[in-house]
Order: sequence, then structure tokens, then C-alpha cells
Amino acid sequence: ASGYSLLRDPHYNKGLAFSEKERDAHYLRGLLPPTCVTQELQERKLMQNLRQYQVPLQKYMAMMDLQERNERLFYKLLIDNVEELLPVVYTPTVGEACQKYGSIFRRPQGLYISLKEKGKILEVLKNWPEKSIQVIVVTDGERILGLGDLGCQGMGIPVGKLALYSALGGIRPSACLPVTIDVGTNNETLLKDEFYIGLRQKRATGQEYRDLLHEFMCAVKQNYGEKVLVQFEDFANHNAFDLLAKYGTTHLVFNDDIQGTASVVLAGLVAALKLIGGTLAEHTFLFLGAGEAGTGIAELIALEMSKQTKIPVEEARKRIWLVDSKGLIVSSRKESLQHFKKPWAHEHEPINSLLEAVKSIKPTILIGSSGAGKTFTKEVIEAMASFNEKPVILALSNPTSQSECTAEEAYKWSQGRAIFASGSPFDPIEYNGKTYYSGQANNAYIFPGLGLGLIISGAIRVHDDMLLAASEALAKQVTQENYDMGLLYPPFSNIRKISAHIAANVATKAYELGLATRLPRPENLVAYAESCMYSPVYRSFR
Ligand code: NAP
Ligand code: MN
Repeated sequence: ASGYSLLRDPHYNKGLAFSEKERDAHYLRGLLPPTCVTQELQERKLMQNLRQYQVPLQKYMAMMDLQERNERLFYKLLIDNVEELLPVVYTPTVGEACQKYGSIFRRPQGLYISLKEKGKILEVLKNWPEKSIQVIVVTDGERILGLGDLGCQGMGIPVGKLALYSALGGIRPSACLPVTIDVGTNNETLLKDEFYIGLRQKRATGQEYRDLLHEFMCAVKQNYGEKVLVQFEDFANHNAFDLLAKYGTTHLVFNDDIQGTASVVLAGLVAALKLIGGTLAEHTFLFLGAGEAGTGIAELIALEMSKQTKIPVEEARKRIWLVDSKGLIVSSRKESLQHFKKPWAHEHEPINSLLEAVKSIKPTILIGSSGAGKTFTKEVIEAMASFNEKPVILALSNPTSQSECTAEEAYKWSQGRAIFASGSPFDPIEYNGKTYYSGQANNAYIFPGLGLGLIISGAIRVHDDMLLAASEALAKQVTQENYDMGLLYPPFSNIRKISAHIAANVATKAYELGLATRLPRPENLVAYAESCMYSPVYRSFR
């Protein structure tokens, strides 16, 4: 290739870091100013530039530009500055980016598969330049974070998630494929927006929707084989559970909103038990929000309880209560409930407010997974703190604007006694002369390592026990020092090591269950996982 095109190919471009020899060998003379610099210097310069932007969205756009210009440098920045940059390339900033995608859109990233491509999806996949794909993240844009239907503009989510697969889990960037399925949008504002990039029609539903998804799933397996991981992301719950159940028996599929969330939250709860005492089965759980996150977490907790205590899962579920938009889920509502809520309809009189539910159920652990912000009011938290010495409060809804309460509110209203973690990050809080650090129940702890574990073992199906294995590996990474600070999760700065441990635990499970195809089984799976991880350090060209 010519030097000029080398500079414009993000996979190879190194900018000023091309050495004298490389400049001679690859026709780069004169195309670059005379200075040669190291990747470290480039990194320092870019971080300095990024920090000058006041507006998070500007940082996001600068990062996306970098990804399109110099991929290795993008990943080097993300890996070395993960705590600082995670909120830029993922929640909360990615939410704003999706909302404004139409106007910040410059160059397409990922594959767009709309109703117009019906009957041609296999051809569309073949238009993608990379042939060997290991992970696909796909959305239909109907429930982006807690922001609702953003249609085709949801593309920011698969792009962001896959950047984390590579940075945190070490999956090769070229093996990652972001996909947005566009069946229309019910978002009136977008339909009227002249800059909207998607199909201008109401969402297709029913058979038309299922047919397009089915064609996609078949094409994916045909084109990439049985071991490609398809992660469903930010589908509305009326499709998410059905898609997962339907394709779970024929494909390697995983829904991060249901399963990844469950795994990361269970890890945080297991860690919380160290601070509050007792076993899972000795606690009472109340959820606000009974959708993908809420019922997904609830089910994994029940599964773990039942494994630990040998009680049937049906019994374990009775220690877990959920509130949806109509109030506490109780048996008298059973007929009218969506199928994924039915297992949670326990005997109790109807209650329609969260506060009343808290007072009646007296949970030791309160989990917000509704997408509705400011719902853990002063009264709710005070009630939790009135009958719990250390109330566990998880405000999981994203982005920050939708958080059930802030970290400051949780500590203040519980007189500093709450054990708190949230979906979007909060800065440390000063209260009564003490500093409180809160953990982030971020799915990014789990899915990159889980994905890596599936890939290195050549797994062909995802099993619930693998979610438990991932969760267990994460909880083990919390150190005494973290506990002493009240943290339920380890710092993100160690995430590549954490991912390798999660991957090894997941792979071990895949071998045990007979779902692994990579044979023989590597002896030391942690070391093997680490050896498989993508490194963003520049290669030299000969
Ligand atoms: P979902 O499937 O749409 O479920 C939302 C649930 O919340 C539904 O049960 C809904 O009730 C209920 N709800 C909505 N508004 C409510 C209100 N004002 N009062 C009571 N209940 C209300 O959404 P999801 O996938 O579970 O996601 C929910 C939120 O969790 C999102 O903000 C998402 O960003 C966040 N989340 C966080 C993490 C994390 O922290 N790691 C992971 C995943 C998701 P109905 O069923 O009655 O409509
Ligand atoms: Mn999601």
C-alpha cells in the first residue's frame, strides 16, 4: 500500500510514531513532519487535549475521531486511562451521543441492517471488510440505556460496548462487529427531526419484526459459524426475553441487560454480605423496576440462593419482591402480568407505592432498576435506614439523570450508614467530615471477561452457571482495602486482570459443562486468557 493510504488506515496508522526506517520503506517521506515520537508521547498529548474539553460530548467526539484515525492509540488511551475514559466512551456520555447521533454523525461505524435489507442480510454481512468475527453486539435501538427509543441512533451503544470488549476484555478490534437493526422508531421527535439517520416509519412489530431478526440470526451463523458471540443490547423487554429464549438453544447468545447486569449485581451483593453479614438467603430483596435488569438480577440471586442452600428456586424467589409501574407485584395481579414477571407474584395485599412497599416488606437490600430517576426519595431511604443498621442501596438506572438517587442523598439520608453502589459513576462524597466512596455496578466489569472466556474455550452456548462463574470471579477480586472503603467492586484500573480471571472461570465452566470446543483444554486458563488478549502497542512494519 502507498504511504498515503497507510496514514489513512486506522488499523495501521501511527502518525508521527512511524520510525525513520518505516518512513523509508513505506513511501512515507514528506508525508509527515520530520519528528518521530513514541506512542507514550502521543498518548500524553491526546490526554492533555481531551482534558481541555469542558463538555463531555466533545471528549466523546474526540475519542471517536481517534478511533477512526489511529485505532491502536485509541485503545492505548482507553486501557491506560480506563477510569477517566469509561464514562466518555460509555455511560453516561454515550447516551447523550445517541440522542444527538444524527447531528454528530460523520462516518458510519458498524453495520446498519434495516427493513430495506430484508432478504439480503447475508450480502450485507459480506460488505463488512473483516471476515473473521468473534463478537457481534446488536441493538434495535428501542430501549437505549434509560433513555427510551432512539431508533437507528442507538448505534452508539454497540460501538461503545465493543470498544470495551477490546479495551477491557482484549478481544481483537477487527473481530468485533457493531450492528444496528432498524425497523423504524416510535420516537416522534426523531421522526420529525430533519437530521434523523434512520427509517422514517413506526416500528415494525410481530411477524415482520421476527422475520427480520430471524434472517439476521441465520445469516450470522451461516457467515461466521457457530462460535460467534451475539450480544443483544438495549432491546425493549417485550422482545428481549423472547429473543434470548428463542436463540439461546441454537446460537451463542447473551443479553447484557438481563444476564450481564445480573452477574455484576450479584457480585456486588456477595461483596456486600461481607459488610452486612448473613447469607443471600437470609436477606430480603426489594426491586423498583421489574424489567430486564430487575427480573434478570432477581432470577440469578434466586438461582445462587438455591445452589447455596439446596432450597428449590421457587422457594428462593419468595425472598425477593419487585415493584413495577403499577406497584408491588402480587399474586392478585398474576393474570395481567407479562410472563417474565409471573414468577415474582407472591401472596401479599396490593400496594401501589414504593414507600409503602418498603415499609411493609422491610427489605435489607433495595435495588433500583426502573430507569426512573429520583425515585429513592428521602422518605424511602429514611425508611430503609430505620430498620437496617446498614441498608444496602443500589441505584442502577442509567444515565446519571435517571439514577434513583445520588450517592450524596443515599449517605446523607441514611446518616452515612448506607452501603451504596450505582449504575453511573458518582464522585466521592464528603459527609460529616468523612469521605464516602461508592462503587459502580457497571456491566463493563463482566461482559468483556465473559466474552473472552467464551471465545478462548470455543463455547457454543451460554449457560446460567457461566454467569454465576463470572460473578464469583468478580466478587473474589474485591480486596480488603476495597471493603474498608465501603466499595463493593474493585477499581477499574485493574480491569484487564479482572477480565482474565473472569474469562478463566467462565472457560472452566464451559469445559465442565461440555460446551467448550477448543481442545485440549489449556492447563492454566488465567495465563492462557492473558496470552490471548489484544495489546494496543504499535507493531513495527518491515
Ligand atoms: P425495562 O425492561 O424497560 O424495565 C423497566 C422496569 O421499570 C419496568 O418493570 C417498569 O414497569 C418499571 N418502571 C418504570 N418506571 C417506573 C416507575 N416510575 N416506578 C416504578 N417502576 C417503574 O428496563 P431495564 O432494561 O430493566 O433497565 C432499567 C434501568 O436499569 C435503565 O435505566 C438501565 O440503564 C438500568 N440498567 C443498569 C445497569 C447497571 O447498572 N449495570 C444494567 C442494566 C440496566 P412496567 O413493567 O410496569 O412498565
Ligand atoms: Mn444495555
